[in-house]
Amino acid sequence: MNSNELTRTGKDIATPVRTKEIINKYGFSLKKSLGQNFLIDLNILGKIVSAAGLDASRGALEIGPGIGALTEQLAKTAGKVVAVEIDQRLLPILGETLGGYSHVEVIHGDVLKLDLKEILATRFPRCEGISVVANLPYYVTTPIIMKLLEERLPLEHIVVMIQKEVADRMAAKPGTKDYGSLSIAVQYYCEPAVVTIVPKTVFIPQPNVDSAVIRLSLRKEPPVPVEDEGHFFEVVQAAFGQRRKTLVNNLMNRYPGRMARPEWEALLLDNAIEPQRRGETLSMEEFARLSNALLRTKCPD
Ligand code: SAM
Repeated sequence: MNSNELTRTGKDIATPVRTKEIINKYGFSLKKSLGQNFLIDLNILGKIVSAAGLDASRGALEIGPGIGALTEQLAKTAGKVVAVEIDQRLLPILGETLGGYSHVEVIHGDVLKLDLKEILATRFPRCEGISVVANLPYYVTTPIIMKLLEERLPLEHIVVMIQKEVADRMAAKPGTKDYGSLSIAVQYYCEPAVVTIVPKTVFIPQPNVDSAVIRLSLRKEPPVPVEDEGHFFEVVQAAFGQRRKTLVNNLMNRYPGRMARPEWEALLLDNAIEPQRRGETLSMEEFARLSNALLRTKCPD
């Protein structure tokens, strides 16, 4: 058996027939405003589950189980699955579709408001590692991922289905059109890898955008030495302020009155950064050097 293939039961939720059957049985109407696009393809689910590297000693936190298509496949592989769902109407459905799995727990709530640190600490006893695995609601993809990263949750991987365009931005390298503050924020915390591109046809209903599965593997240490993270991300934002402007112009715009142009240019040159470059050409290492150096310059009173 290919490692991406799942053990199929013939009754899996993620088929067009079974999904429609469940939706009809409960008279469930899908809410576009909650990003409800359900997966109906077991091959794609196999790729998601296998990218997360789960086994009986590991746990999975799922965000948005829907009717349980992915949850069911996670349950077959992981030692524990906790799924957070905002839509109360799905709870009785999940009670039935996942009823056979005693190691699956469903929590009703908004993932953006829940205390995930507490959930990870209390709901996964005996798990050696925990990963987030999800087909994310697209209207809140970036806030969810940034919450997972900024709260420094003790996760191994984040394997998520998201808009392809957002996946491209997260994994982008310096000097490319997709490279921006999101690329740096994500790559500061993780190593990204696009697992697969996903056609619209594997969802009910089909979304308007193309999708991709991305795996973010959490770093143990930041990849560059940063003295003040808040300041580092502020400098990154500033550098991308207006993409057509040079780095020195964007910095002068963000920090007006801080220094005169020749001093800005000298600071950049002292740190081996040509002032006429654009923010999108700077590596994370260069941003770290710039931010650390700027911290040491005196603010005007
Ligand atoms: N996992 C299912 C699948 O793959 O078929 C459903 C995925 S669907 C794209 C997104 C799910 O996230 C929906 O069930 C939706 O109700 C839920 N959701 C939306 N916003 C949420 C939030 N803020 N917190 C938790 N769940 C949310």
